[in-house]
Amino acid sequence: MGMFRFHGLVIILAPVLIAASEPPVNAPIPTARPQIEPVAEESVEQGAEVSVPLPTPRPEVAEDKPEADEPKPLTAEEVSCLADLVELEVDFKAVDAIHGEGQCGVEHPIKVTGLSSGVVLDPPGVMTCAAALSLENWTRETVAPAADAIFHDELASIGNYSTYVCRTRNSLTGAKISEHAKGNAIDIGRFVLEGGRVIDVRSPPLSEFLELGFLYAVREDACEHFTTVLGPGTDVFHSDHFHLDMIQRRSGYRYCK
Ligand SMILES: [Zn+2]
Repeated sequence: MGMFRFHGLVIILAPVLIAASEPPVNAPIPTARPQIEPVAEESVEQGAEVSVPLPTPRPEVAEDKPEADEPKPLTAEEVSCLADLVELEVDFKAVDAIHGEGQCGVEHPIKVTGLSSGVVLDPPGVMTCAAALSLENWTRETVAPAADAIFHDELASIGNYSTYVCRTRNSLTGAKISEHAKGNAIDIGRFVLEGGRVIDVRSPPLSEFLELGFLYAVREDACEHFTTVLGPGTDVFHSDHFHLDMIQRRSGYRYCK
C-alpha cells in the first residue's frame, strides 16, 4: 500500500484505522491519490475526503446497539410456538408490539384469524403465541371432535368476545391486571356449526341437553390447555362466556371453576 509512505496520510489515517478495524474504512480511500504530487489544493481535498468517511462507521455501530424502543428478540419458546402454529396451519400474522399503559402490553403479539380444520375465530383476536397454540390445541383435540360426536356436524367458528384489552381483572378499579392485558386470555361467547346451529355459552335451557353436554365437555377439557377456565356459574362476570387464560401460578396450579 503505497499511500502509507506519505506521512500526512499516515497521520490522517491512523485514527481511522484505530477507530474501526472493519475493512469498509479502507474502501472509500482513493488509492490513486498518493501517486499524485502533493499540491496545496489536492492536499486539502485529500484531507477532506479522508476525514469525511471517518464518522460514517460510527453511527452504523451505534444504530446496531439495542435501544429502549427496539423490538426485543423472540424467545426460544416463542420461536418454537410460532413454528408449531405454522405446522398446524393456524391462520395468523404477526402484528406490532403493544406497549400499553402500566403493565399492559404484548411484546410479540399475533392476530389469529382461523384455526386448523378451517375453524374461524370470529372476529380475529390479538394474543400471545402461547395463548393461540392452546386455543388451537383445545379446538383441534376437543371442541371440533365434540361437535362431530354430539351434533354430527363440523365446527365452523368460535365466537371471540375478547382477547387483548388493557384492563384489570373483571374491569374492577384497583384489581390486579387481567391476563387480557398481556395477550394471555381469550373470552369465548359461542360456537357455531357448519349446519348453522349456534351454541351459546350462556347456559342453554335444560331441554337442550346436547348443547349442555357439549359445553360441559369442552369446558372440562379446556383446563388441560389453559391454567384458568371460568364461565357461567363461576361468578356474575362470566355468566355469558368462557374465560380461558395462560397465567403461570406457583407449583403449576390451575384454576378451573
Ligand atoms: Zn376474560
